[in-house]
Amino acid sequence: MIIVLAKDISEQDKEIIRRYVKEHGFQIREQLLGEESIIGATGKFSVDLREIGLLPGVERVSATAKPYELASRETKPEDTIVNVGGIAIGGARISIIAGPCAVESRTQILETAALVRESGAVILRGGAYKPRTSPYAFQGLGMQGLEYLKEAGEREGMPIVTEVVSPELALSMKDLTDMFQIGARNMQNFELLKKVGSLAKPVLLKRGPSATIEEWLLSVEYLLAAGTKDVVLCERGIRTFETYTRNTLDISAIPVIKELSHLPIIVDPSHAVGIRAKVTPVALAAIAAGADGITVEVHPQPDEALSDGQQSLYGDQFERLMRDIEALAPVVGKELLRTPRPHRKTGTTVILSTEKPVSKHIAFSGESGAYAEQALMRAFGEEAPRMMMPSFAAVFDAVLEGKAGFGIIPVENSLTGSIHENYDLFLRYPDIAITGELKLRIIHCLIACEQASLDSIALVRSHPQGFAQCREFLNNYPSWKTETYNDTASAVASIARSGDLTVAAIAGEAAAHAHGLNVLRSGIETNPRNYTRFVIISRRNGTTTSIPASLGDKQPNKASLVFSVQDRPGSLFDCLKILSERGINLSKLESRPIQGQPWQYLFYLDVTIPENPAVFYNALEPLKAQAAHFHLLGVYWAAT
Ligand code: PEP
Ligand code: MN
Repeated sequence: MIIVLAKDISEQDKEIIRRYVKEHGFQIREQLLGEESIIGATGKFSVDLREIGLLPGVERVSATAKPYELASRETKPEDTIVNVGGIAIGGARISIIAGPCAVESRTQILETAALVRESGAVILRGGAYKPRTSPYAFQGLGMQGLEYLKEAGEREGMPIVTEVVSPELALSMKDLTDMFQIGARNMQNFELLKKVGSLAKPVLLKRGPSATIEEWLLSVEYLLAAGTKDVVLCERGIRTFETYTRNTLDISAIPVIKELSHLPIIVDPSHAVGIRAKVTPVALAAIAAGADGITVEVHPQPDEALSDGQQSLYGDQFERLMRDIEALAPVVGKELLRTPRPHRKTGTTVILSTEKPVSKHIAFSGESGAYAEQALMRAFGEEAPRMMMPSFAAVFDAVLEGKAGFGIIPVENSLTGSIHENYDLFLRYPDIAITGELKLRIIHCLIACEQASLDSIALVRSHPQGFAQCREFLNNYPSWKTETYNDTASAVASIARSGDLTVAAIAGEAAAHAHGLNVLRSGIETNPRNYTRFVIISRRNGTTTSIPASLGDKQPNKASLVFSVQDRPGSLFDCLKILSERGINLSKLESRPIQGQPWQYLFYLDVTIPENPAVFYNALEPLKAQAAHFHLLGVYWAAT
């Protein structure tokens, strides 16, 4: 029997109910389930339910035919969403757990974590205590393994899940892991269930190899009754007469559990089939059948794995699986959960500390002569020490790690619009802020070797922006092929290295000088009013969402922010209204699709900070409250 209590019930009325039920021979367990306080009562039926329903403070009462109550959907009709260290499992999302079978070494787990995170896994798995069939097999690294797993999770911004094999170990593992896994072999280890449940942490409960669904849910009941609210079930194959695969995945368990319980269910295709080549099709079938996610074994070198190598995916297979799941998800009305990858080298506190002097170097993407280098010299002087980086992301990395004090990156061009890659990087690097901007006139040149001429050219190299901005010039030479480079100056450098007379590059004059090449044509951009806006980035030092105290009247006059809105009519308007009501001027508004969330958008805004800056800072709290996600990219002086 389940008694749901009124929200405002007094302690006195609660006591009356407890006494009444106990006097009728029931044993009771009290539980908070979602918003509701529940008394679950088990015993022989000796009371009229209606009588209990009339007791003060009783919201409703029901008999349950199910032997499990707390796990039952009858008790709680809506889906439970389990929060694992900030990552949700359940509801309309598909959450992917990945990692090796076992933590084998620090290097192995760091490498695997980076690999699965790059492909989009949101939780990291890895066994530190391994329950192995043979006592001679690798048993895991124990506590040391768990510490490595935690370090890898922190480095990649992923919560971790690991198996707990005995009640004695549970307490010492509690503060290291974000989620306990109870393995198939231990599904009915009731002392373990009681102990782990009492620690009130999320639990991933695997189905025993020969457990019925009812037995499985009764094991869940142990966990819930002991105190945890956050249980995720995991179907990992059961033992049947079939021996081709390691186990037989009970795919129908997914819709059955969905009907019987409010808890999320995920699938472990690796242990279900035990054969690498069969993991992907079975994982996709699980998603199609309604699973809330999968937990899958991935190893950078499966052939060298100390356990379960034969069923571990290679990195590229996992990447492919993630893409397939992403494409399949909308068919079942769900979305693959993707989270921006925070680039934090160590814990946030270390990175945010300003005590360590950061480098005086300024990082830019490209080779010498790049437009970014010209912008850098304009902002910091001709002699400023600089670092050339192979990509924009590498500029962010250098700044985040303190190897460079500042970075300079292009964000938009007056002819071709925003450089989206860099806007997206701000989301992936929450600890990087914009601290300044400048605009640079872009004059493109066609650059080639000394002996080359317009007639000898057959191929042109540049950054895609270079091609886009010189479209009309290129249209005059329809036979020229084009080849894309990461930046304009590296295109020039490549010609300097090869000396090939048939190749030219589109880049700035400075790049021609830097690499000893010749300018064949200058000013080939379609429109002479061609400007690129660069921003200067630095490590965020503390919070910038409140008015900086010491700046006096030297307040920056521009701010860049990004937010997403709730999915309802008028939500963008409601956010913009907060600015317009305060007379804050918008100088840019742009939307970008959110990765992994089709048809949802992020809005990038540049605003002018009014003369009284408090007006701007006071708008931030209401904006944060209104927006689904809000991030202040920086406050700085606008370029004139
Ligand atoms: C595991 O996940 O590594 C594991 C041992 O799984 P199972 O308990 O399902 O065999
Ligand atoms: Mn395994």
